[in-house]
Amino acid sequence: MQHFRLIPLLLLVACGAPQVQIAVTPPQPIRRCLLLTTNDSESNFDGAERGADGKLTYTYPLARIAAAKKAALAARPGGVLLLEGGDVLQGRFLERQDGDRAKAAADNWPLYEAAGYDFGVLGNHEFDNGPKVVRRALQGLHQFRLLAANVDGAGTALDPADPGHPQGLFAATALVECGGIKIGLFGLLTPSTRTISDLGDVKLKPLQETTQASLTALRQQGAETIVLLSHLGVDDDKQLAQAIPGIDVIVGGHSHTKLEHAVRVEHNNRLAPTWITQTGARFERLGRMDLAVDADGHVLDATTYALELPQAHVPDPGIVAATDKLLAELVPEKVIGKRDYAWDVMDIAHSQYAVRASRAVAQYAARVSKHHVDGGLLNTGGFRSHTIYPPGPVTNLEVSAIHPFRNRVVLVTLTGQQLKDVLEHACGHAQNLEHGANSIVWGVQVRCDVARTPARYKYVDNKPVAIEAHGDRAQDVTVAGQPLALGKKYTIATLDYLARGGSSYLPLQLGEHQCLDGKAFKADDKTACGETALLSDVISEAVTAGELDRP
Ligand SMILES: [Zn+2]
Repeated sequence: MQHFRLIPLLLLVACGAPQVQIAVTPPQPIRRCLLLTTNDSESNFDGAERGADGKLTYTYPLARIAAAKKAALAARPGGVLLLEGGDVLQGRFLERQDGDRAKAAADNWPLYEAAGYDFGVLGNHEFDNGPKVVRRALQGLHQFRLLAANVDGAGTALDPADPGHPQGLFAATALVECGGIKIGLFGLLTPSTRTISDLGDVKLKPLQETTQASLTALRQQGAETIVLLSHLGVDDDKQLAQAIPGIDVIVGGHSHTKLEHAVRVEHNNRLAPTWITQTGARFERLGRMDLAVDADGHVLDATTYALELPQAHVPDPGIVAATDKLLAELVPEKVIGKRDYAWDVMDIAHSQYAVRASRAVAQYAARVSKHHVDGGLLNTGGFRSHTIYPPGPVTNLEVSAIHPFRNRVVLVTLTGQQLKDVLEHACGHAQNLEHGANSIVWGVQVRCDVARTPARYKYVDNKPVAIEAHGDRAQDVTVAGQPLALGKKYTIATLDYLARGGSSYLPLQLGEHQCLDGKAFKADDKTACGETALLSDVISEAVTAGELDRP
C-alpha cells in the first residue's frame, strides 16, 4: 500500500507544488494474551472417579492441563498465562497415611508449579489447617505466585517476609508481560474465610478499598490490562465489578460456577466493561480466553472465552508420575456405607446431617461409657469441607474431609444452670452476637429469643474466664421432653476441644469432665482421653451401621 501513496507525492514535488505533510499513523497491532484458567481445583490431581461397578478410574486432569499450557506456549512463546482461582489445599491429596497435613499441603502447590501455573489466589480452604500450614506450603513455591491483596499477614504466622523469598511468600499484586501486554494482577480472598475456616490472627482488609488501592498501584506501575483473581464467588464478583470500574477480567472461584460464557458487566460511563469467568471446580473444565487488547490495553474481545475438557489433551507424563508418587502416600479411599439424603456441610446450622452427627456422638458415648447421656453437642466449626454431598456411597475420605480435626469424644456433666449457659452461648453471647446457633445439639430443645439479654463474660487476653451475667436468650429448654431443672445434673457428649473451652465454650469448660473409660480429667490436661475414639471414627462407624440414615 505504501508505494501507491508515495507516487503522487513524488509527482507533486517534481512539479514544484507546495509540499503537503500527511501524518500516517501506522495501525496499532492487536496484542493477545491467552489466559488458561481453573478454580477450586482442590488438588484433584488424579481425577479419580468411581464407576457404577465401584471401581476407580484416573483421568489425571492436572497432567492434561500441563500439556495444554505447554502446547499453547510452544505456539505462542511469552503469550500464555495459567491461572488458578483458589481453593487448592483441600480434598483427597491432604489425606496422607501418616496424617501429616502440613506435609501434604507442602506437596500440593509445587505440583501446580511443575504443571506451569503462573498465578493463583489464596482460597478459604487453604486456611482449613491454620495459617502455619499455608506458610509452610508457600515456602515450597518459586515460580507459581499466590496473590491476596486483602490478606494482612504482617506480624502473624502468615507474615509474607521469608528469607528464601526476597519478593515475599505471597503478594497483593503482580505485573507481568504476556503477548506484549503489561497485565496487572491482584487477588482477593472471601471475607467468609473468617467464619468458615481458620485464619488465626491473620487479618482481612475491606474489599472495595483494597480493590481501589490495587487498581491505582497497578496502573501507576504501568499495567494496561487488569485481571482480578477472585476467590469471592460469582455474585460478589458482579457486585464488586459494578461498584469499582476498571477491572478488565475477573478469573473467579469459590461458588463453583460453570460459566459457559464470560459475564459482561457494563459500567454506566465510558469505561471498558468487566468480564467475569469461572470454570466449575476440581479441574472438570479448563477456561480459555484469548484476550485481545487495543493500544490502550482495553479488552477488545472476551467473547473468545470458552470452557474445554482437560481430556482434550494428552497427559504430561512427568506430572502423571509426580501424581502417582503422591497418590502412593495417601490413605486409600474406600466406600464405608451410604447416605439416603444430601449431607449439607454448607449450612451447618440447619443441616440434618449435623444434628444426626450429634446424635451419633451421644449414642456412641452412651454405649461405650455405659453412662446415661442426655444429649450430644458439636460446634459448627467442627464441620469442614463446605459442600453438599449428594445421596450415594459414602467414603472414608469424605468423612475425614468433613471432620479433619483429631478431636475426641468425651462426657461433660453440668448443672441445669450450666447447661442453660451452654445454650445461651449457642444463642449468641455478648461478644459473639453475630455467630448465633454455633452449637449443634441433639437431645436438648431450645428456642433462642435474640431480643432478650445475652450472657456477659469476663475476658482476659481475649479468652473468656468467667460468666459475669447469665443470659436470658435460651427459652423453653427441655431435655428428653422435660423442662430443664436448674438444680439437676445432666451429662452431654461432646468433643475434648469444646470441653477444654475451645471456641469460647467457657460454660462447657466449667463442667465435670470424663473420658469414655470413666477417667475424670481437668480442662487444662491436653493429653487426657488419648485412647478415646476420634469424632471422624465415630461418624464412620455410624455411617457403616446406617445410623445417619435413620430419622
Ligand atoms: Zn472457596
